[in-house]
Amino acid sequence: MEKTRYLVVGAGITGLSFAAHVQSDDYWILESETEPGGYCRTVCQDGFTWDYSGHFFHFRHKDIEKYLVDRMRGERVRTVVKDSRIGYAGRLIDFPFQKNIHQLPFDEFLECLVDLFEEGQGDSANFKQMLLQRFGRGICEKFLFPYNEKLYATDLANLDVDAMGRFFPHASPIEIIRGFRRADNASYNSTFTYPEGGAIQYIRALLTAVRPERVSLGEPVIAIDLERKVARTPKREIAFDQLVSSAPFPKLLELTRTAFDRAIYSWNKVLVYNLGFDSKGPRGIHWIYYPQRELCFYRVGFYDNIFDSDRMSLYVELGYPAGALIDRDHVEATRLRVLEDLKRAGVLESQKLVAWHHVVLDPAYVHITRGSLGDVAEKRRLLAARGVHSLGRYGGWTYCSIEDNIVEARALAASLDAQG
Ligand SMILES: Cc1cc2nc3c(=O)[nH]c(=O)nc-3n(C[C@H](O)[C@H](O)[C@H](O)COP(=O)(O)OP(=O)(O)OC[C@H]3O[C@@H](n4cnc5c(N)ncnc54)[C@H](O)[C@@H]3O)c2cc1C
Repeated sequence: MEKTRYLVVGAGITGLSFAAHVQSDDYWILESETEPGGYCRTVCQDGFTWDYSGHFFHFRHKDIEKYLVDRMRGERVRTVVKDSRIGYAGRLIDFPFQKNIHQLPFDEFLECLVDLFEEGQGDSANFKQMLLQRFGRGICEKFLFPYNEKLYATDLANLDVDAMGRFFPHASPIEIIRGFRRADNASYNSTFTYPEGGAIQYIRALLTAVRPERVSLGEPVIAIDLERKVARTPKREIAFDQLVSSAPFPKLLELTRTAFDRAIYSWNKVLVYNLGFDSKGPRGIHWIYYPQRELCFYRVGFYDNIFDSDRMSLYVELGYPAGALIDRDHVEATRLRVLEDLKRAGVLESQKLVAWHHVVLDPAYVHITRGSLGDVAEKRRLLAARGVHSLGRYGGWTYCSIEDNIVEARALAASLDAQG
């Protein structure tokens, strides 16, 4: 039987970052798909460059950004000052909604402002209650509830108070009021960078630091024996000292035959349409959020306004519950619905669709609940004690960015190196 010191499950950002940073070169990376990248893959089609939905980067660790860009060999990375809006009442208001209520029609502005001071403070039991307590009914019912329900495809009362962590743009009433006079769109990503070749450039950068002969594509891990420390694939068995998994956490629990309560784990799926048109659409805007329940998408992004190109190039995101059936017929029918809704939203006029692609991200946004937080922490600890480390956005069952994935994988590599 083959033996390796580190068996890495998944060749996405997390798995590749671990292998790129660990000192030992005694590893295998097994990837079930036939190409590396996970959700950081890019599609180049008919002159359009599309990701698996908009992937934009706001690095807080400049050393990580430099590490990646230095390995991109001539790739141009754009730095873009974000222009993100909300389609509301026939106008485009600045994001985030809660900081820009003064841009609403006057009567709705007054309603939101008064409600901001009506709701109680104190501890909230869940995400929905937190939103209501902090922002009041007006802001919640006009944007925060419908938008997040479309995105998460669940009752927001199911989610933990901190379900979006630092990605939620909080604002106190006083900050909201100050913003009436002085535009303040500062949120976690007020500028972003984007490689002209798409998100896959980050994967290619990491691959330069990984042994190519130790990346096996199209080879899923189908069982992990914790007693023998052996992983099985359709081709072979591999014994490992340590296993690093970026597979979705409930999947890892199944692979390791760890008993768990399935009801604790829920998530949404996101159906992404990448659409290329023959001519330009709205200029300057990078993405628009849509809270309206009658529009099927929750967000539309404009690659052409990032690339400064002359044909409209969109990603359109639709949220679904995990159990929803998204088959070929549904994808075809929904593409037509998306085009109709783009017209209703004022994005599409006379432009002709000339290229399209779709992908289903499953899971896309995990539902972070009190139950999941406790169960994931406990079971990750138990598995780590047996040499199985679960990390990444889905391995950690969390909400994070690729930078967070790299930070986490690099820290695990350093910690295992230190153990010798
Ligand atoms: C809609 C959406 C938008 C996003 N936008 C941004 C953004 O703008 N900026 C940003 O920084 N981040 C963004 N993210 C987050 C980013 O995509 C993730 O943080 C990152 O891609 C996670 O990388 P990962 O390697 O942990 O997981 P993944 O990319 O899921 O990679 C895991 C890999 O493991 C493989 N795998 C799973 N099971 C097995 C198995 N049994 N055997 C072998 N291989 C297996 C999978 O095929 C996959 O390739 C976004 C995410 C979503 C869903």
